[in-house]
Amino acid sequence: MKHIQVSEITRNIKEMCIEVNHKLSPDMQERLNAAAQEEKSPLGRQILGQLQENLQIAHEDMIPICQDTGMAVVFLDIGQEVHLEGGNIEEAVNEGVRQGYQEGYLRKSVVKDPLIRENTKDNTPAVIHYQIVPGDQVKITLAPKGFGSENMSRVFMLKPADGIEGVKNAVLTAVRDAGPNACPPMVVGVGIGGTFEKCALMAKQALARPADSHSDIPYVKELEEELLKKINCLGIGPAGLGGSTTALAVNINTYPTHIAGLPVAVNICCHVNRHISRTLSAAE
Ligand code: SF4
Repeated sequence: MKHIQVSEITRNIKEMCIEVNHKLSPDMQERLNAAAQEEKSPLGRQILGQLQENLQIAHEDMIPICQDTGMAVVFLDIGQEVHLEGGNIEEAVNEGVRQGYQEGYLRKSVVKDPLIRENTKDNTPAVIHYQIVPGDQVKITLAPKGFGSENMSRVFMLKPADGIEGVKNAVLTAVRDAGPNACPPMVVGVGIGGTFEKCALMAKQALARPADSHSDIPYVKELEEELLKKINCLGIGPAGLGGSTTALAVNINTYPTHIAGLPVAVNICCHVNRHISRTLSAAE
């Protein structure tokens, strides 16, 4: 059996928390740069220029790219041949988040109880999604999520008869309702199929996909492109002040579903769509 020490997972997550909050990933940076060139509204271009400047200053001066450094969402794809040694994996992940947010001077945004609302003061616990996959590696994806955009996300339990037009309406409704509250330009993650919780998880995973990637399924790729065009015709624009750049990308993930249902989740993210991945190989 091959093994990975959980302390390696802690160390990597600590570094990833700091890196992802100070530097936007290249795929997102490229989409933002392209939008700044293509934006039709002068005010929209000005705002996109300010966002670019903000990212530059954050990178050079080691300042977080947004004051809301998010709740840490962690995806762990664990190879079935890997034995995790040296401690409890959940504690190891949370220790990485704790160290990253403390050493990186990142805002602590997590409350221990959703109604009593006392801050945990170290941004733990993370939201952790485990998946067992073939192989002898562990892939860690970290996607800290700001709640200006998270709060505007939706699940629609459509009926099969609603079809693809129903899906388009659901996505456009969520984006229209989000408006300026989601700090546009947005990235729109969509999950179609599965069950109530599966479609929400797929929408979150879709946000962590590279912003310049497309679905392998031809009709889904076409739907991503069509919805991006339609969203950018809504006129919400950068910061919600009007323009032709309301979204930078629409990423859709799909899964089989029940004969009686068509679940659709729309997880909206802002222009600070933070995501970073690392893969650890197990040793003999
Ligand atoms: S929605 Fe995004 S850009 Fe807006 S405050 Fe939250 S993290 Fe920052």
